[in-house]
Amino acid sequence: MKHHIVKRLHFSYGHRLMDYDGKCAHAHGHNGVLEVELCSEKLDHRGMVYDFSDVKKHLKGFIDRELDHRMLLREDDPMVAALEGIGERVFLMKENPTAENIAKLIFQEARAKKLPVVAIRLWETPDAFAEYREE
Ligand SMILES: [Zn+2]
Repeated sequence: MKHHIVKRLHFSYGHRLMDYDGKCAHAHGHNGVLEVELCSEKLDHRGMVYDFSDVKKHLKGFIDRELDHRMLLREDDPMVAALEGIGERVFLMKENPTAENIAKLIFQEARAKKLPVVAIRLWETPDAFAEYREE
């Protein structure tokens, strides 16, 4: 048996998808809701898996600096040069900036910060999320 906690964080981002035939091939934005799920077999001396405010502290900087109010684009997207040319904030990704790949990116950042993360869920709309989970 393990203890699980989930911390929600909010950020806004724009993106568009390459090699995709549909509405999301056009630039648009989301008010994303991120769920960071941490787990531990034992609780610390405070009775916690992890302090909720420390989850925020470790990830909020990265999210604010790199993702919030930015266009997330695949690095070969022709829109990159156009936006950078007018001084817009762009975050480049090797893969398509889908909710799936953004969730994976944040999972890797959480692991790099040594958080005991087991899953990242990114709610792109109130009805749809992508999850990246370590099996
Ligand atoms: Zn979208």
